[in-house]
Amino acid sequence: MKTGKVYLVGAGPGDPGLLTCRGRDILQSADVVVYDRLIGAELLALCRDDAEQIYVGKAAGRHSMTQDEINEVLSDHALRGSSVCRLKGGDPFVFGRGGEEALHCLKHQIPFEIVPGVTSAVAAPAYAGIPVTHREVATSFAVVTGHTKEGAPANLPKADTLIFLMGIKALPQIVENLLKDGRAATTPAAVIRWGTTAHQQVVTGNLTNIEERIKAAKLTTPALIVVGDVVNLREQLQWFDDSTQRPLWGKTVVVTRAREQASTLVTELSHLGAKVIQCPTIRIAPLENDDAIQNAIKNIASYNWIIFTSTNGVDAFWEQISRRGYDARLLANAKIVAIGPATEAGLAKRGLKADLIPAASISESVADEMIEKGAAGKVLLVRALQGREVLQEKLSAAGMQVDLAPCYQTVADNSGAEEVRELLQEGKIDWVTFTSSSTVKNFVDAIGEDIIKATRESFRVACIGPITAKTADENNLSADVIANGSGTSELAEAICESSKSTFIDA
Ligand code: SAH
Repeated sequence: MKTGKVYLVGAGPGDPGLLTCRGRDILQSADVVVYDRLIGAELLALCRDDAEQIYVGKAAGRHSMTQDEINEVLSDHALRGSSVCRLKGGDPFVFGRGGEEALHCLKHQIPFEIVPGVTSAVAAPAYAGIPVTHREVATSFAVVTGHTKEGAPANLPKADTLIFLMGIKALPQIVENLLKDGRAATTPAAVIRWGTTAHQQVVTGNLTNIEERIKAAKLTTPALIVVGDVVNLREQLQWFDDSTQRPLWGKTVVVTRAREQASTLVTELSHLGAKVIQCPTIRIAPLENDDAIQNAIKNIASYNWIIFTSTNGVDAFWEQISRRGYDARLLANAKIVAIGPATEAGLAKRGLKADLIPAASISESVADEMIEKGAAGKVLLVRALQGREVLQEKLSAAGMQVDLAPCYQTVADNSGAEEVRELLQEGKIDWVTFTSSSTVKNFVDAIGEDIIKATRESFRVACIGPITAKTADENNLSADVIANGSGTSELAEAICESSKSTFIDA
């Protein structure tokens, strides 16, 4: 039997972008993924679809697994031949009990590998604008546990900057020990909760007032404490939780696009500081009946023009032709139209250069531009099963023979609706984004007209393109901003611009 292996992988402090490349490779290929409480869904989404995911953290009302039980889980799977990714918050060897897990593997002669991670001890201060060392301020730092069998540790290291993990409950005792140890009562201190994530909260003060300030801010775990003069640098270096540098910081934005298509928009909004909630009301699914596309492929040489309306269309079409053993040469005879820059990029990835990328993405202007370019003869329209008929009609009216090649369909997906409904009712959503008319209609169906009506004053709507905005308008969701163009970056930009102006008004 193949020997298994255990990989002790640091997941980083929370921001999924801080997982290492090696960690990602292992996570993507592991048979079994064993993970803790603070591991985010974005990282678990990288697992193989058929990977077994085992949660070993604490759950409300249930006791957490003991370290021995976790060790057993790791060795049981590895001894059965699986590659096991043990995903741990931050770095596995910084208060992560990674050493114990490695020793357990050694005892059972299971090969293991350690993949260091970005530790929260350094990363959370960095995202709070606090360098743990700084010339002429701090020449050393130490990471200390706030929680030992005896409580907060009395023997404190002599480093200039001290970072306490797991220390929130013991904060009063930690402060007392620091004062006893000779630190001035005026020594700056910061508490950082959920560092590096959209939930990051930072409270600063000094040894005398930090306790009272975190109580006032109702700040709880997971959080760490930074003590030392470097904390003062936050005043100048604050960047992550700062709305001048990241204009959407503090804003909650709903993305209604299908998960398969949402990643660029989600990344762009997150980089601008937003807390992004995905409410994908539709999902891309294969067709039950692919006769039309099969016919189209059989007769592909007869088409003069082929139109791709979306990247999903390109992906699904490619899957169809690859499955039949063809490649890009199949399309050699036709002129190719790509609607929108993402579609153009999807084709380019397959080695195809579009002959026409219409300036405006709406069907009416696509048809006009094609006619202007002298399009004639047979046209193949590659798109979703559901779609507007305008393009087909306009091209037919101009004398072309247009065949439809639907190669995927969109089906309802209500996975995020419950959370969004609750957040809407609590007034916690700032923006809802729509990227197509179907996202508007599906959102209304998923959330319910009455809830939208009752909460409509509390959030704003951003749409890509005039057609989407029109559908939004018809559904009680009039757009507050309409992106200038068809790309997601224009949408994100439009939200920023509008958020800035209300920021000044407020
Ligand atoms: N191995 C981890 C630490 C595990 S101990 C690492 O290297 O980061 C767990 C403690 O880490 C928490 O109690 C908290 O003090 C700290 N911690 C982990 N993630 C954090 C985050 N995103 N923000 C603030 N503190 C965090």
